[in-house]
Amino acid sequence: MHEVQTFSELDLIKPIARAVAEEGYETPTPIQARSIPHLLKGRDLLGCAQTGTGKTAAFALPVLQRLEKSGGRKRCIRTLILTPTRELAAQVADSFQTYGRHLSLTNTVIIGGVRQRPQERALKQGPDILVATPGRLLDLMGQNLIDLKHLEYFILDEADRMLDMGFIHDVRRIIDMLPKKRQTLFFSATMPPAVVKLADRMLTDPVRVDVAPQTRTAERIDQTLMFVDKGNKPKLLEKLFENTTICRALVFSRTKHGADRICNRLTRRNIAAGVIHSNRTQNARTRVLEEFRMGKLRALVATDIAARGIDVDDITHVINFDLPNEVEGYVNRIGRTARAGRDGKAISFCAGGEFECLQSIERFIKQKVPVDRDHAFHSEDAANGLENGVPAVSPGRQQGRKQARRARQDRAAGSRPARRNQERQCANTRRSKERSMGATPVKNRRRRRRRLRPAGK
Ligand code: AMP
Repeated sequence: MHEVQTFSELDLIKPIARAVAEEGYETPTPIQARSIPHLLKGRDLLGCAQTGTGKTAAFALPVLQRLEKSGGRKRCIRTLILTPTRELAAQVADSFQTYGRHLSLTNTVIIGGVRQRPQERALKQGPDILVATPGRLLDLMGQNLIDLKHLEYFILDEADRMLDMGFIHDVRRIIDMLPKKRQTLFFSATMPPAVVKLADRMLTDPVRVDVAPQTRTAERIDQTLMFVDKGNKPKLLEKLFENTTICRALVFSRTKHGADRICNRLTRRNIAAGVIHSNRTQNARTRVLEEFRMGKLRALVATDIAARGIDVDDITHVINFDLPNEVEGYVNRIGRTARAGRDGKAISFCAGGEFECLQSIERFIKQKVPVDRDHAFHSEDAANGLENGVPAVSPGRQQGRKQARRARQDRAAGSRPARRNQERQCANTRRSKERSMGATPVKNRRRRRRRLRPAGK
């Protein structure tokens, strides 16, 4: 098929073409050009693309068009989009709203971490499009609050991340409950065997579209590497924020506690900062993201999982306070800046223990990240993979070593974790049996005896 070059060649209906023009889109991105013509004809699609490629419009535009052409608003769910994170769900729904603003179709978001009642009320209105994360969707399906028998379009977004986050069983259960006759679109940034297997199960004779390998995304981003000792990272971060061109920075931490610590420290230094990770409530995550989007925060500190789906167009800087464990993670992170044709800066801190990660990243992106040696906290030790003068251990290996040490200790003590769990389970069963027979559980009996014992005995 000839590849389209302009939106007018895509044969979009007027209200959608108008919304696209109002968004300022001039030409379709490669994934849009390659998939929209097939999707408008009703084909299934296997799209290998990451966020930032324009993939949301690639599926939203044809789905909106087909819904509109086949009768418009019908007060029943005809489209389901499944996303791994709540933020991504909200953004996908926003996109449907934007591209469909001149149509009468409606959409609803179903995500966990927030009250169920408002979602129930929205479902009663019979939205045409439902954007959901798997857990809450299954919950509501289990309560018979969602009827999917009129479903015509099913989109699985970021399938690889779904698998990484352990949603595979939920996804399979949902798929089994969908009508067999439907158009299915499957998107994933990477295609490991488990993802391919899932796609095979869901798709019928799909068109396959692969767009720009991730490595290319890095080219427009001005990347810098700073070698620094682990203990000096917070000071270096504060120093960076003295630079006023850092207006909207996304700071990545490997752990949730680390993210909290960074945010607290920045706030103490009067740098407006927020934090987003999976331990925070959904309302807190939504609020902080909104403040970041509106420019009220200079820094948003995030972990990788929480940052998935953060789509803020004018992030000026991505700062890797810790390097990611996965090489693809690096490209994903820095791809949050330099979006929608803008330029962006990515600054990565590298301590001695992260030297191996850095080497893998540089192999993956096929380039050396330029090093800034002129900053106040430059460490030659870190640049040589050393910590306190001795070869450092990478965080991944540290974790492995901890596990091995625990297993050794368990073996030496003759109590394997499985046996410990079994013992704990037996004790719980015994206690609940005792309780059901009206007896005071042994543990409580002992406590009571201790309380009743005269002092000093
Ligand atoms: P996505 O990959 O769907 O997360 O989209 C990434 C960003 O690209 C979003 O901010 C979109 O608004 C923007 N975008 C999508 N399609 C186009 C286009 N054809 N031209 C310019 N920007 C676009």
